[in-house]
Amino acid sequence: MRELRGAGVSPAVFAPTGARPRLVLYSCPESMKKQKDKKIAKPARRARPASLKLKLRSSPARAILTKAAGTNPQRVRAILQKLDEAYPDVTCALVHENPFQLLIATILSAQCTDVRVNLVTKELFQKYRTPKDFAYADPNELEKDIRPTGFFRNKTKSIIGASKKLLEEFGGEVPRTMDEVLTLPGAARKTANVVLGTAFGIASGVVVDTHVARLSARLDLSRNTDPRKIEQDLIKIIPQEKWILFSHQLIWHGRKICQARKPRCIECNLERLCYSSDKTV
Ligand code: SF4
Repeated sequence: MRELRGAGVSPAVFAPTGARPRLVLYSCPESMKKQKDKKIAKPARRARPASLKLKLRSSPARAILTKAAGTNPQRVRAILQKLDEAYPDVTCALVHENPFQLLIATILSAQCTDVRVNLVTKELFQKYRTPKDFAYADPNELEKDIRPTGFFRNKTKSIIGASKKLLEEFGGEVPRTMDEVLTLPGAARKTANVVLGTAFGIASGVVVDTHVARLSARLDLSRNTDPRKIEQDLIKIIPQEKWILFSHQLIWHGRKICQARKPRCIECNLERLCYSSDKTV
């Protein structure tokens, strides 16, 4: 070892190449204090060889991370089987007696719980019985009637508009195709899928509400956040004959078990198939 002192030169010891530098202990107390305060520079980390970087980029582990491993057909089949075991015959929770009532209830369910919608529609459907009753309703009165469901001004416009359209263009009946339902004010793909699937048994797509969106992400079935893209992802991996039931099953599972804030993973029969970072077990 060789010691270096002098103006502008730090009191470090030059150690043999590769060895960690050491401090020199001085007899002068001031120098000793300075020495104590000074941090020892760690040797620079050795750069990872280029060959290793390449190896990591193409490793199977990394491929699993970037590709949606959740869409593996075997895994999807296992998820569907587990959902069938837990929810063999679930259906839409919105109480209704006919397709028209389901359409109105679905419009009201935007940003609102089904429980609250059911409370409101219990009296609403007594007061307004047909599309004509809604089409010519007093908007101010209807707003008051549906106020507890939130966004009541927009929903009133949608309900009156949809009812008028049904009377004028569809003979007062709810149409049975996606394109036609989408022409009704207030009806987007979610509403259309609910009405066509539940009221008519037509598998037009997968209902993507807040529960389906959350569970699709947690189960790694879709990495999109836009409901339309999530639906397209699900349509590709779920057999069409399961679209209607699958939507209801995910909605029920989201309500009962895989809740947004604190999923009850310990009670979840999909737990072994789930590798979500939101898991609580
Ligand atoms: S294990 Fe947990 S996070 Fe995964 S689906 Fe079940 S409840 Fe949801």
